Amino acid sequence: MNSSAINRQILLASRPQGEPTVDNFRLVETPVPALAEGQVLVRNHYLSLDPYMRGRMNDGKSYAAPQPLDAVMIGGTAGEVVESRNANFKAGDRVVGMGGWQEYQLVDASQRGVLQKVDTTHIPLSAYLGAVGMPGVTAWYGLVKIIQAKAGQTVVVSAASGAVGSAVGQLAKARGARAVGIAGGADKCRYVVEELGFDACIDYKEHKDLKSLSAALKQACPDGIDGHFENVGGMILDAVLMRANAFSRVALCGMISGYNGEPIPLQFPQLLLSNRMSIEGFIVSEHMEIWPEALKELGTLVATGKLKYRETVAQGIAAAPEAFLGLLKGRNFGKQLVKLV
Ligand code: NDP
Repeated sequence: MNSSAINRQILLASRPQGEPTVDNFRLVETPVPALAEGQVLVRNHYLSLDPYMRGRMNDGKSYAAPQPLDAVMIGGTAGEVVESRNANFKAGDRVVGMGGWQEYQLVDASQRGVLQKVDTTHIPLSAYLGAVGMPGVTAWYGLVKIIQAKAGQTVVVSAASGAVGSAVGQLAKARGARAVGIAGGADKCRYVVEELGFDACIDYKEHKDLKSLSAALKQACPDGIDGHFENVGGMILDAVLMRANAFSRVALCGMISGYNGEPIPLQFPQLLLSNRMSIEGFIVSEHMEIWPEALKELGTLVATGKLKYRETVAQGIAAAPEAFLGLLKGRNFGKQLVKLV
């Protein structure tokens, strides 16, 4: 590696109050460090942008520690080993890890699990950050372990065109269930039905109040709702509860409509009782035991073209903050990535 090579990084410069802005981030240039014994230098090709990063920008109590100020933004990456002083890795290996918002990462690869080699023969590198990575496993866990979707049931998923939601509906269809998406805008809804094969998709932007959204759900789910995969919260969850069947199950995965601190009260919690529902929140990284099984199914489906996915790709590390702000506003269409090489 050329000793004068530069690593461009994005740091968290300040904590947002409400909606984040590009001023909360700072781009810096540092020299690419030299390797010590056991270390591996990875050039990151793709950076994954994910909604959970918004939560980590806050200082408050959460399931994950806050992102430190003036440190490289934490995040998943996929790339290529460019130099190795570790017997388990060699230059040219394709790897995924938590490289953060930067062009290069120095990894102490002797720590188990920090860097995973991946096979890009049948699966593109970027898919390991989406359908065959954390978002795909998230979909799988919520659908298979919490909702326990079965043939003939109706499963609803919000943020249906996104990285997680798109996999939820397709995995539900693969199990013989009826899949109904909720997404923002006609283009996203058309894609969800025509490309991904969902049975129906509701554009929530066309429904400004609960009555209207609930009526649309009634039409799309004539037999009621047996399972719901929640990514958004607020009015969407309220409308689903109004159409839920007895003993239906909700996988509470995300509540992105409240990530900037917006209040998202549940209007009719009594429906949980009258419908005898179960609702379970989960964090996918706390269920590492299911990752191999989930990745096996997801990898096979993607490699054989049976699980489709879409990506929105920003170019270059400097574009990461703007792309991240777009993700929180639904400007992404599918998995949001930043391409670095
Ligand atoms: P997506 O690719 O789905 O992108 C986020 C989408 O959320 C946007 O495209 C937008 O879609 C929708 N959205 C954004 N703001 C709002 C809003 N105010 N109201 C309604 N919809 C909104 O992201 P992911 O697939 O990566 O993540 C989906 C969800 O899963 C998130 O809530 C995330 O936090 C959660 N998650 C949870 C995990 C866990 O372990 N529990 C792990 C991974 C993800 P649209 O245009 O359709 O509104």
